[in-house]
Amino acid sequence: MGEILEVAKKILEEHCLCDNCLGRQFASLGYGLSNAERGKTIKSFLAFEAHNQALNENKDGISLLENLAVNGMFKLAEDILKRLGYKPKTSQKKCELCEGKLQKLESFVGEMLKKVEGYEFNSFLVGAKIPEKIIEAEDSLRANYKVKWGETIKSEFTREIGKIISRVTKKHVDYKKPDIVFTINPFTEEIGFQVNPLFIGGRYKKLVAGIPQARWVCGRCGGVGCEHCGWTGKKYPESVQEIIEKPILELTLGEKTEFHASGREDIDAKVLGNGRPFIIEVKNPKKRNIDLKLIEEEINRSGKVEVLNLYFADKQAVRKIKSMETAKKVYRVIVEVEDGGITDEDLKKIEEKFTDVTVKQQTPTRVLHRRADKTRIKHVYRVKTKKLSQKSFELEVECQGGLYVKELVDGDQGRTKPNISEVIQKGLRCVELTVLEVQA
Ligand SMILES: [Zn+2]
Ligand SMILES: [Zn+2]
Repeated sequence: MGEILEVAKKILEEHCLCDNCLGRQFASLGYGLSNAERGKTIKSFLAFEAHNQALNENKDGISLLENLAVNGMFKLAEDILKRLGYKPKTSQKKCELCEGKLQKLESFVGEMLKKVEGYEFNSFLVGAKIPEKIIEAEDSLRANYKVKWGETIKSEFTREIGKIISRVTKKHVDYKKPDIVFTINPFTEEIGFQVNPLFIGGRYKKLVAGIPQARWVCGRCGGVGCEHCGWTGKKYPESVQEIIEKPILELTLGEKTEFHASGREDIDAKVLGNGRPFIIEVKNPKKRNIDLKLIEEEINRSGKVEVLNLYFADKQAVRKIKSMETAKKVYRVIVEVEDGGITDEDLKKIEEKFTDVTVKQQTPTRVLHRRADKTRIKHVYRVKTKKLSQKSFELEVECQGGLYVKELVDGDQGRTKPNISEVIQKGLRCVELTVLEVQA
């Protein structure tokens, strides 16, 4: 008898194993077979061997057939014994490793799919929780019989369940970003699932001033609703996030959203040009295969926010978009001169001074109540000016993201240095701020 059959025979002398659990001890041998097929093949060969011994009056054959019938729960061995005139005891045993659970996978899958009814998914992953005592029992069996070809019972469960779900649903297993993760403890038969978020990316333009980027919770009541916020729980009635999420939540039947963008503009600033990159994360979506064109049209109908280039994104893209926060930005600012008028000489001076200059900026006084007080070092690449009237001019500022542009203009009582007001020795005020470009 060869090594494999010898090991299998010895195992079955003392242990009760189903086809899967015996086959799993030899999982790295042969390709394209399931462990159940391996186990059955090995048991069949052992049965042939034993049958031949029994026909040659070798008593070992009978005891091997008995082991196969009882410990191996192997019908063929039972039948051979009957033919040979023995009255074998029928096995009342249960596989000591999987406790028969590997023969219940179809019914597990039925339960799993029932749980996720109503959730659309294109990909999935299965995770299994195996009790420690089962893992230890298999480890010690392998040590005792010097088994070196095995795989873990956990991978057999997850793989085989995955195969069945794929067959039934026509969806594929995805290890990196599955839409749904099933979890199962086959031994307690506890089944759970987790629906991963849906990510939709694109660029947004904010056509009107006065709305914040993200939902802004009322500072007085913390979102519960109070007299101050008109019982809305919000400081501002709407936001870019809420305008974008509305049709998305309607179509995906999601629970809520999180809004990610590369940087943010002030409430009173517009975003024009090619827009600002964003990704909206939909929690617990029921539908995923939604028409992005339809969503785009719906959002753009708001007249306040416009989105373009919508696409299905992922978690990794969120990280990327956030790291772009300091990417180059172009702003257009309308500036009013508080005392005296603006001269061509002033404008020339501004353009000269603010070409390739490093700005030291302390957190602006106007945001100090919600941002830590620290000094930022930001770069201004260039500034273009255009006179609009005696007392106003337009600035186009190309700078590193994260620079507070209003403070670059008015100086914030010297907290931003250098600043434009100081350079021309005139009081200045931003009356309009627009984001023209966010580089991606
Ligand atoms: Zn088993
Ligand atoms: Zn409130």
